[in-house]
Amino acid sequence: MSTLADSPPDRAKQADKIIKNPSNYKICQGCDSIVLMKTHTCPNCASYRFEEGVEAVVKQARLLGNRERRSVVQADLS
Ligand SMILES: [Zn+2]
Repeated sequence: MSTLADSPPDRAKQADKIIKNPSNYKICQGCDSIVLMKTHTCPNCASYRFEEGVEAVVKQARLLGNRERRSVVQADLS
């Protein structure tokens, strides 16, 4: 009930922030999480292998954002 960090508006906002500054982030190869560039091991799965690259990070952040906005997209269909 009280998982504020995982609420949909917060994730959408976070995805937006990542897309605007993709060079500050990288993707965990273990669980596909987006983590800060300075991170050495993934906080979710403890992996130390990351995919770096602006394009890959933007693509992954968009996936996260789209997942949360699906209901809005459906509402747009008229
Ligand atoms: Zn991970």
